[in-house]
Amino acid sequence: ERLKYIRNFSIIAHVDHGKSTLADRLIEFTGAIEKREMKEQLLDTLDIERERGITIKLQAVRLKYKDYILHLIDTPGHVDFGYEVSRSLAACEGALLLIDATQGIEAQTIATFWQALNLNLEIIPVINKVDLPSADVERIKRQIADVLGLDPEGAILASGKAGIGIKEILDAIVERIPPPKGDEDKPLKALIFDSYYDPYRGAVAFVRVIDGKVSVGTRIKLFSTGKEFEVTEVGAQTPKMEKLEELRAGDVGYIAAAIKDVRDIRVGDTITDAKKPADEPIEGFRPAKPMVYAGLYPTGNTTFEDLRDALEKYSINDAAITYEVESSPALGLGFRCGFLGLLHLEIVQERLEREYGVELITTAPNVIYKVITKKGEEIEIRNPSELPDPTKIDKILEPYIEASIITPSEYVGAIMQLVQEKRGIQKSFEYLDQKTVLLRYEIPMGEVLFDFHDKLKTATRGYASFDYEFVGYKEGDLVKMDILINDEPVDALSFIVHKDKAYRIGRNIVDKMKEVIPRQLFEVKIQAAIGSKVIASSKVPALRRDVLAKCYGGDITRKKKLLEKQKEGKKRMKQFGKVELPQEAFLSILKAD
Ligand code: GDP
Ligand code: MG
Repeated sequence: ERLKYIRNFSIIAHVDHGKSTLADRLIEFTGAIEKREMKEQLLDTLDIERERGITIKLQAVRLKYKDYILHLIDTPGHVDFGYEVSRSLAACEGALLLIDATQGIEAQTIATFWQALNLNLEIIPVINKVDLPSADVERIKRQIADVLGLDPEGAILASGKAGIGIKEILDAIVERIPPPKGDEDKPLKALIFDSYYDPYRGAVAFVRVIDGKVSVGTRIKLFSTGKEFEVTEVGAQTPKMEKLEELRAGDVGYIAAAIKDVRDIRVGDTITDAKKPADEPIEGFRPAKPMVYAGLYPTGNTTFEDLRDALEKYSINDAAITYEVESSPALGLGFRCGFLGLLHLEIVQERLEREYGVELITTAPNVIYKVITKKGEEIEIRNPSELPDPTKIDKILEPYIEASIITPSEYVGAIMQLVQEKRGIQKSFEYLDQKTVLLRYEIPMGEVLFDFHDKLKTATRGYASFDYEFVGYKEGDLVKMDILINDEPVDALSFIVHKDKAYRIGRNIVDKMKEVIPRQLFEVKIQAAIGSKVIASSKVPALRRDVLAKCYGGDITRKKKLLEKQKEGKKRMKQFGKVELPQEAFLSILKAD
């Protein structure tokens, strides 16, 4: 019957191993669209994604191959979006595991492989980029057998770029991946694995229908909230948004129901029929939980109201961001925002500025700490300046991650040293092959925010790869450090740091800030303090008179230029008392370790 001719699959890979290129090639090969119609990389729809070369938005493309309908479900390629990856995989019966033949297995290869295996997917290994002279197919085959425990004879040699192995891949999808199961006569159950906001359709859900069917006019209900909507459109991306009459058990497609806010269709939630609902939701739903917080404050010509409007509009598009009003003595009114990770923060900041035209200052991001007070209460700390007085604290807990690092063996020493500086504890050490090592560490998540990734890349000349997952909270010997500008503490610059590192970081941070704070008409004193104890200080000397005289004497164009430059600079400055603090000053903590 019908289901026999459907296949649902994803492509999983370490970043840059060629997922997007291969996806485009599969789309092109199956003739879903003409080559000349193809934008550079179709699955990466957002501009920022394309610029950064990463895929953030998951989408699903319907391909026709022989008598079959194949649904290719895209997954985001960054650790911030791990939960979205798991839901996309839950919508599939199989996955292509792509491995770059010149690089071999890397950290994300293993992480996504385990996710797929846990969901019982049929995994087809694909050795990609075999067109390159440095491709080492034999080595990758050995890794597939030794590290993943898969049969290397089943691996397909391919090149998305040169168009090698494409037909073999499509045939393998049809032959090796099982068709979906499901019963279209049962009550509707559809798994949401992605959503986006469309100005015409409203919030659109990408779903895999498990049981039942859905069509225009169906009254649907969201399991987690009980909210109901009436379906206005169903369809599939081909890759155009193409309307269909209905979606049935086994199908992958989209549902629109004049929903105004993406937060109403959360990834992992189950859509059912309001008139004859399923008894139980699909398991595995988990509301998005921010891991990192930062303050966003208006600056330049942007007002608090402008920023609030922008955040409201933006969050219609992004169900993962949270925000609440925060008032900072130093920065005024702004928002404390929660993000899935640092990349998510960067994306939000960039889009707010670019698409919503606001000017902002971002405070240094921090993880969520937990404080157990002497009275036995547990408090969540999302803003370091809110840490209670030390005399009231029994203990402070900090979040830990388990990091997996894959590296050529010659860099193991350098990595161990780096991880030690980051207070990491080694969990395991394993040779993947003669020259490749997999290291596992538990590291405080806060330490990873301090440019861990950059340092890892530098220490290993870019050869090590890194992936992580959150594992839990542990007690830490932590203190709050305050930064004082001309003897006034700036709450927005406070941060939490391990006692053993406090002196070094305090020293580094005042030195960094000295470099980034522009000289003013008077001397600026910068101090780092723990409680009332100043541990480091530096000074930005006052501008010399003759420099000023030159500025104000000179010809008119020069003055104008200077004014323009000042205006430009203002964008990213925040006035603190008489001192102007540039954006870099707020982020200097990230570079202080
Ligand atoms: P993704 O991060 O996994 O989506 O990887 P992309 O598809 O964006 O590819 C990363 C880089 O590898 C790009 O510069 C591609 O042009 C290149 N690339 C992808 N597939 C191949 C291939 O089969 N052969 C070669 N030589 N380069 C490839
Ligand atoms: Mg990509």
